[in-house]
Formats: sequence, C-alpha cells, structure tokens
Amino acid sequence: MDNQTRRNDSGTHTHEVQRRSSRQIEHGIDLHMIREFNRLLILNHIREHGPLARVMIAQRLGLSRTTVSSIIDVLMNEGIVREGSLLDAAPQGGRRAILVHFEEDAGRVIGIDIGRSHLTLIITDLAATVLSQKTLPFNTDHGAEHCMLEVIQLVRLFTSEVELNWSRVIGIGVGIPGPLDNECHRISRAPHMPGWENIDLWQILQQEFHVPIWIDRDANMGAIGEYRGGAGQKHTDLAYIKVGTGIGAGLLLNGDIYRGHSGSAGEVGHLTIQENGIQCSCGNRGCLETVATAPLIVADAEQGLTLSQKQSTHLSGIATAHPADQSNRANRAGRPKKNIADVLQSAREGDPASLAALEQAGKHIGVALAGLINIFNPSAVIIDGGIAHPDEIFLHSLQRSATDACLPSAWEGTHIVAAELGTLSVALGATYTVIDATFNQQK
Ligand SMILES: [Zn+2]
Repeated sequence: MDNQTRRNDSGTHTHEVQRRSSRQIEHGIDLHMIREFNRLLILNHIREHGPLARVMIAQRLGLSRTTVSSIIDVLMNEGIVREGSLLDAAPQGGRRAILVHFEEDAGRVIGIDIGRSHLTLIITDLAATVLSQKTLPFNTDHGAEHCMLEVIQLVRLFTSEVELNWSRVIGIGVGIPGPLDNECHRISRAPHMPGWENIDLWQILQQEFHVPIWIDRDANMGAIGEYRGGAGQKHTDLAYIKVGTGIGAGLLLNGDIYRGHSGSAGEVGHLTIQENGIQCSCGNRGCLETVATAPLIVADAEQGLTLSQKQSTHLSGIATAHPADQSNRANRAGRPKKNIADVLQSAREGDPASLAALEQAGKHIGVALAGLINIFNPSAVIIDGGIAHPDEIFLHSLQRSATDACLPSAWEGTHIVAAELGTLSVALGATYTVIDATFNQQK
C-alpha cells in the first residue's frame, strides 16, 4: 500500500471514529468500543508510518494527546510498541519527543504455500520479515485427508526444529491452488486436485493449531505478497500470474483481491486460445493450460518440438537439409531437462530447443494476457513461477506478444515484470494476510 493510500485510509478511519463516537454517545452505547477502535487506529498508524512521537500521532489522527498517551501506555504494556530514539528536532521549541516504534518482534506468523508438487513453510515477524523457511516436495494427488495430515506433521516438525514458541503465533496463512468457496474454507471445484473438493480445510487447521487461520487461492496470496513486498508495490490494480503446473492469476483491484461472484476470478489458464485445440482438464478445448504450463515447456525443450517445427518451416524446400540435422540441432544441449530451472539454465547456455520452447510459451501466455489487460487494464502484470527473469527470452516474448495483441489504450502504462519475491510470493502473501487481518480488524 503506498503512503498516499495509507494516509487516505487513516483519514477515513478518523472521520469514521468521529461519526461513530457522536452516534454512540448520543445513544449511550459502549465507550469501550470507541476506545478499541482508537487503539487499532493508533497501532496501525505507528505500524505503517512509525516511528512517531505521541504529539504527531495525536495531530495526524485528530485525537487528544491524553487519549493517545493512555492508549500507547497500554500498547507498551502489551509489548506491541516500544519507545526508542528521540525526534531529531524539538517541535515548536519544546523538548525533543521520544519516538514510539512498532514492536515487530512482538509476535510470529506462519505462512504456508501448498503447491501441487511442493510445500513451502515460513515463519515471519510482524513486519513479514522471514525468520525461517523450508521447502519440501509435496503431492496433492494423495487427496485432502492424507495431505492435510502431512501438512500438520510438517508444520509441527518445522516449528519444533526452529524452536518456535507457539504462544507468540498470531495466526497461520495458507495459499492453496483454488478456486475456493466464498468463505475461503473449502476448494469448491477441483478437477486438478482429486479428493480435495468441499473438505473444510480451515476447520482441520483450526482444530489442530487453535490460532486464527486464513486460507486463500495461491495466486491471490501471491498477488498480495508481491503488492506488499515485491514487484507490485504502489500498484493498486495489478494481475499476478503464476505459471506452474497450471496457470492462475490473482487480481488486485483498488488494493483488494477481486474474487468475482463465486470466487473463481483469475482462472487465466482456462482462457481459450485455440478454439479447436486439445482437450483441457477442465473439459474445454484449447485452454492456455493445454499449451504453456511449466511441464509442457519442459517437455517441449527436452524433445525439441517447437524447434523442429520452426526448422521444418524455415528449411522446407531446401534440398540440402537432412532430417537428421534437425534432430541433432534439437538435442544439441545434451543437458537433461527435468524441470523449468533446467530449461532456463539450458537456454542461458544457448540451447536452441530450450530457447524455442520458452519463446513459444511466452508468446501463448502473452496473447492470453492481452485479453486480460484489455478488460482489466492493470498498471502491473507480475509473472511468477520462477520462469520470468528480466532480459530473458520468456519475458521478452511474452511482453512482445501481449503488446502486439493489446489495445494501445489498455496497454499504455502497463508494466509486465518478473516477480521479485522468488519462491516466497505465496507464503509471504499468506503472512501479510494474517498481519493485516490482525491489525486492521475493526471491532
Ligand atoms: Zn481448461
């Protein structure tokens, strides 16, 4: 969230408090509620704009200095804020005020990224700084019952290895391949994840860990992660695209996740790009996921399919070309390509089959994203999944095809960039979700 938006938010809250205050006093309603509201207002202001002197907080929020001071005293007793350095200059000739800092170390958050073939666990402080992390192989094909038991065991093992004090945990955030129901408790439709549909994942975790649990689609969590701490900072309208076993998008609209009417917004992997193409797991034909997922790129690079097609087009009619030459060219790299990292490395070493596969996938995804940009008009499109890197062929190809297929008015000012949080976008988005929900809740 950019500073301007935060200032506006704070201003809105102040007016809201004042409106509520007069209404509640008028009707003799609970003063405790006003105090709790002001407490959250002050705490969030310090968290987002601190360190600040008490007098500055009072001025900015339109509250009395007595109110601010008494609430800060309580927050200090709770260990959520602390006094630190002095203000550089004394305001209006008075004493130099002591600055109040948010105590980032006051709690811990667990972020979980459940992928179709990996599980990433992180522990952060209250500023989403990663303190510990671990990534393990995982397989969602075993179904929710088995997999959630495994998640619980791995979380217990991980937190015990790093000697986490559970009494400090303020919540657990989870990103999972969706789509989810409107409550974000269950995966609602899961042709890609057999045995997961309509199982209350939230309840399973809640009953085990007894802390607040927040679950969302992995692409939504990734969008929040990149928006709060990565390539999407200051972009309140953005699309986060995760290219993995599937292709999903998290859409941020005015700084909030856009879910659509039934929670399935962002399924860009099922945009039709070849009307009579091959059948997709969703039952339709020619979806983006039938031509450009990470496993398809790996298979293409390994077998030299796109390269062979390009060569046969280019060489058709040239009598001297021999089929064996094409096969040799396609397999010239030698390095076996088991995953997308192998393909990227081979491409960097000049392997033509890997370069061709990445260029082709970038082209397909770019065409699909042009449709998204035309409709949604985001200021940033962030590509994740470990595949997009600045100045490399995949991102260049994607940018070129998206630009070519997009309306100039929609394209203007749109940045298509690589994600910046590495493999942690989803897990970090999950911890940001917990932190924001904890501190921004309004009682
Ligand atoms: Zn599909």
